Amino acid sequence: MKFVVLVGDGMGDYPCEVLGGKTPLQAARIPNIRRLAAAGRVDSISTVPEPLSAGSDVANLGLLGYDPHVHYSGRAPIEAVGNGLPLAPDDVAFRCNVVTTDGERMIDYSAGHIETQDAHAFIAAIDQRLGRAGVRFYGGVSYRHLLLWKNGPCDGLNTTPPHDITDQPLAPNQPAGARADEVRAMMEASKEILRDHPVNSRRRAAGKREVSQIWLWGQGRGLKLQPYSEKFGLTGVVISAVDLVRGLGVLAGLDAPRIAGATGFLDTNYEGKVQAAMDALRKKDFAYVHIEAPDECGHIGDAKKKTYAIEQFDERVVGPIWRELDARRESYRLIVAMDHRTPCAKKTHSREPVPVLAIDGPTGALTKEAPFDEDVLANLSAEFSYDWINRALRPC
Ligand SMILES: [Zn+2]
Repeated sequence: MKFVVLVGDGMGDYPCEVLGGKTPLQAARIPNIRRLAAAGRVDSISTVPEPLSAGSDVANLGLLGYDPHVHYSGRAPIEAVGNGLPLAPDDVAFRCNVVTTDGERMIDYSAGHIETQDAHAFIAAIDQRLGRAGVRFYGGVSYRHLLLWKNGPCDGLNTTPPHDITDQPLAPNQPAGARADEVRAMMEASKEILRDHPVNSRRRAAGKREVSQIWLWGQGRGLKLQPYSEKFGLTGVVISAVDLVRGLGVLAGLDAPRIAGATGFLDTNYEGKVQAAMDALRKKDFAYVHIEAPDECGHIGDAKKKTYAIEQFDERVVGPIWRELDARRESYRLIVAMDHRTPCAKKTHSREPVPVLAIDGPTGALTKEAPFDEDVLANLSAEFSYDWINRALRPC
């Protein structure tokens, strides 16, 4: 049996005024998902139970079948694995965003979803000036970069995800606790290095968001996960644009290829991702396909764009994969999920339960539709995502 999990990051939401009181999932035209919901089974899952923070790291760890209470050690070490960086036991990894501020408030945690090439020029300058033996900055994708710091600050240090503080003052959200002064000093020093960087001058002239500073957060030490081959007896692949999810795949002993043109936004290479998943499923048992764009639209607070992102997920990921699975005439279990809500009104993640659906195929053509949205949760009791997926990935 083939197992396929399709994840629309942050698809869940609250009713949005601009959508006439509907949520993006309700406003979106998603015929494939609604047909699967009508013929399959819809459940309610809690993906970020207390006291865990409502991050994609925690939520995707659970959706992959690992208990985040046990395994979670911070976002950055997972991303480091996804980025192929060697993480020594005494290394602490930090996520290093390039962000736009007005000096007082966080304007944009992504510097306008900065082009990777521009960001790498900034990270190179930062590494040259602030790096030293045991302290190295590495360029990732778009605004997502990493710092590896031998024996760096970690335990007792509190940092804040910059996407949680859009439009909010910086001062109360600075790193605090053990050795916070060392982290703050780096963030402070980055301002002067970046201010007059030629790429910033070019970005200003082009009307693009400048990079005001680096923002360090998500620190942690390396982690190990039981491989899928042992845990579920499955071989497989994780398809995602973001190093976080690819890193979880590598840690789970799954393939996690980089897909050309995968951007983590609306312009991603949907067809390339679908192709890579379906190619892998010819030989392997499991595919986890992750689409980041709905979450990013939630962080921007744009409910219409988010609705469109969900429609693209339905039309260009769920539909083609479902049809191709059916055409191959092998038995499969198809799961459509989201890792958490990213309510447009909040511009950040929230921890309420989310819907998930599972269907066993081949299904043949389906026509009847049923809702797949936040309202269906009202009559369901939420189960921890980790428990749900551990059952779902074992055929009955
Ligand atoms: Zn997420």
